[in-house]
Amino acid sequence: MKRPSYTKSTTLFKAAQHVLVGGVNSPVRSFRHVGGEPILVKNARGSRIYDYDRNSYIDYVLSYGALILGHANPGVISAVKKTAEKGLGYGTTHELEVELARRIQEAIPLCEKIRFVSSGTEAVMGAIRLARGFTKRNKILKFEYSYHGHADYLLVKAGSGLATMGLPASKGVPKDFIRHTLVTSYGNINNINKIFKRYGSEIAAVIVEPVGGNNGVIPPDIPFLKRLRTLTRQFSTLLIFDEVITGFRFHFGSAASYFGIKPDMICLGKIIGGGLPIGAYGGSKKIMNHLAPLGSVYQASTFSGNPVVMSAGVATLRKLALLKKDYKKLSEKAALISQYLENKAKSHNIDISVRHFGTMFSVYFKKRKYFKFFYRRLLENGIYFAPSEYESNFISFAHSKEDIKKTLREIDEAFYLLAKRKGRS
Ligand SMILES: *Cc1c(COP(=O)(O)O)cnc(C)c1O
Repeated sequence: MKRPSYTKSTTLFKAAQHVLVGGVNSPVRSFRHVGGEPILVKNARGSRIYDYDRNSYIDYVLSYGALILGHANPGVISAVKKTAEKGLGYGTTHELEVELARRIQEAIPLCEKIRFVSSGTEAVMGAIRLARGFTKRNKILKFEYSYHGHADYLLVKAGSGLATMGLPASKGVPKDFIRHTLVTSYGNINNINKIFKRYGSEIAAVIVEPVGGNNGVIPPDIPFLKRLRTLTRQFSTLLIFDEVITGFRFHFGSAASYFGIKPDMICLGKIIGGGLPIGAYGGSKKIMNHLAPLGSVYQASTFSGNPVVMSAGVATLRKLALLKKDYKKLSEKAALISQYLENKAKSHNIDISVRHFGTMFSVYFKKRKYFKFFYRRLLENGIYFAPSEYESNFISFAHSKEDIKKTLREIDEAFYLLAKRKGRS
């Protein structure tokens, strides 16, 4: 088969490297994890993305999970156009903000009140500030390998020991700034009991991804999450679910209600913006009313509630409400791909770990060089997986049965070639 050409992508990426750091505006896009140069996308529709050399790909990244309806969904695009024609923002409350908040609240009733911001990072920062203001405590607890955006005090690696103050996970984060951040491992009930015994009454909030999406997929540990709920209640600590990925990802609502757990606050992002920059946090009136202008916890933003963004969110949730019953089909497709990956790897004796939950899946190769080969081979044959084993892949409502079939065929071929290569080496 003829190898595709990447001439235009390569030229553009070179130009990008002159003006953008590493040629990108977010590190994983650089393809450092998979080697080689990234493909650059010129346009997209449905399940497909097209690069500057007119190669087409079935996309499993979907703007890192935001595009659950697929690319350029006609309803979303028409809503965005209609709103944009009336002006791009006014800095006053707009009816679309009310409508999006209402739709979220209907699907996630524990969000009695909502604050919109422009990214998941800001949603988490707002929720944590509010939790600290509400509880009048400083400490927060997070879990190793979880990601909650790029706020200084959340870029923390676990140190050794039970619950550690951790170490900065990035240069530029002073140790002082993470002084109040406790980090521990996810899923160990014994540990968490001990931590609460020791620090419980000092912890303002526990923040957790109910399904991990930033270190491969980490399936939920329901008994652990329930234990967290019990402990936090007992110690008047707030439980915050970071649902920036998981909100509206598994059903029409939160992962929290999917699991029958009621956190105190929920952070949202990605899907609720229909592909445009958004974040939101919500909870009971009692907590949320501590935010300015009603309360004394300050949080403001120039672009929050932007009408164009809101219109994309409203159009997305409106469509998702009609697709409630079809989430199951998405999960089945993700399961199919996951099982196939696992089976093929096994039959070729290649050591991988596939993790799957609902409409998300990730694949980790024990040998990085095998992943690189596998990834490149899929890419060259029109399958765009997340360019890192630590990112999740997603299924959208735009992925057809044919898309999945083609994906399985290419996975099959990639493993076959990988095994052949492995045999030679
Ligand atoms: C993406 C993500 C964030 C950060 O959202 P941004 O919009 O990138 O700032 C926070 N938490 C989780 C779980 C995420 O996946």
